[in-house]
Amino acid sequence: MNKKIGLLLCLMIFFVGGTMNAQTDPKTFKVVIDAGHGGHDPGCRGKNSQEKDVCLSTALKLGKLITDNCPNVKVIYTRRTDVFVELYRRAQIANTNKADLFISIHCNAAENTSANGTETWVMGLHKSEANLAVARAENAAILKEKNFENNYEGYNPNSPEASIIFSLYSNAYLSNSILLANKVQKNMVNTNHFINRGIKQAGFWVLYKVAMPSILIELGFLSNLDDERYLIKDANQNAMATAIYSGFVDYYNTVMNKNLETTPATPLPVTETPVATAPAEPKSQPDSVIVPPSPLIPEKTFQNDVHFKVQFLSSPKKIALTDPQFKNIPEVGCYYENNLWKYTAGDEPTQAGAAAILQEVKKVYGDAFLIAFQGDKKITVAEANALLKK
Ligand SMILES: [Zn+2]
Repeated sequence: MNKKIGLLLCLMIFFVGGTMNAQTDPKTFKVVIDAGHGGHDPGCRGKNSQEKDVCLSTALKLGKLITDNCPNVKVIYTRRTDVFVELYRRAQIANTNKADLFISIHCNAAENTSANGTETWVMGLHKSEANLAVARAENAAILKEKNFENNYEGYNPNSPEASIIFSLYSNAYLSNSILLANKVQKNMVNTNHFINRGIKQAGFWVLYKVAMPSILIELGFLSNLDDERYLIKDANQNAMATAIYSGFVDYYNTVMNKNLETTPATPLPVTETPVATAPAEPKSQPDSVIVPPSPLIPEKTFQNDVHFKVQFLSSPKKIALTDPQFKNIPEVGCYYENNLWKYTAGDEPTQAGAAAILQEVKKVYGDAFLIAFQGDKKITVAEANALLKK
């Protein structure tokens, strides 16, 4: 009898101990940070810069922020120096490490030098020629490889039929990819004040092949003088790395349904004033204030809890916020009023901020208009502005 009780106690201690151990030793979350291009593949070029350098510098800064501040997150780089890494190899690194997240960092370029702004991509089939062109330009890195035919299942980025291969993509990771894309894109444009080009979808080889949620960020256009001037500065790269970091922490907290254990954050130095290329939006923070990359500090200050949004769609049926029709819409939200689900874009502390988003949304939903809330209560835009003057 005594022996039995002893054995029972031993078993109990074993199981309780095991459970406690599991709680105090959470699985390490792995993030792959992929700096685009490198080595003999410079990527796109600006007047004074090459894409590979801007990507690497920003990627290393992002990795350092995560490593310094998140003890439970492991950072894996696809490259840490100016070396050439094949696209298939980048995906392989992520897959063999069984990573939880893949973040690829790039810069854009266009023949039209006035094209500017930040956009974040998730894997999918392109809906426009413009989207296809961006993916094709990034996939062209393959052509810098010897024997590329052997590593890409016959895919050739120059062939018009090539992107058909991406129709085989399974959407298993799409909703989490969109979630991360939204959070990163929002933080990026709040930081660099670039035009918000939104979340987009196209066939990027590197995203196609990774078996985990993944995004590809086009920080801005090196072919645009204002964007380039901003992108090449060290302090601004720190600011953008911090913006991506905050998006990552926010994503982690949402997906894991818990707060990521972060040590007191040491923000990277941010001293440069962002170049104002986006429609003027009053800043809620003076430039000299460094917003630490902590999930506890909101990026925007809503005076009197006043929120300006853009309403672009009403529907009697509820539509998932991750629905593909919203893929180019920033910060999609919804509310229920008069038996209709109403869908909104943006969440801004000022009318000017929401007006900038309205311009973008109107390209897709011509009838979009501004609305305002105080907390959850819908108010008129005039009432909202009056509340801001109080
Ligand atoms: Zn690139």
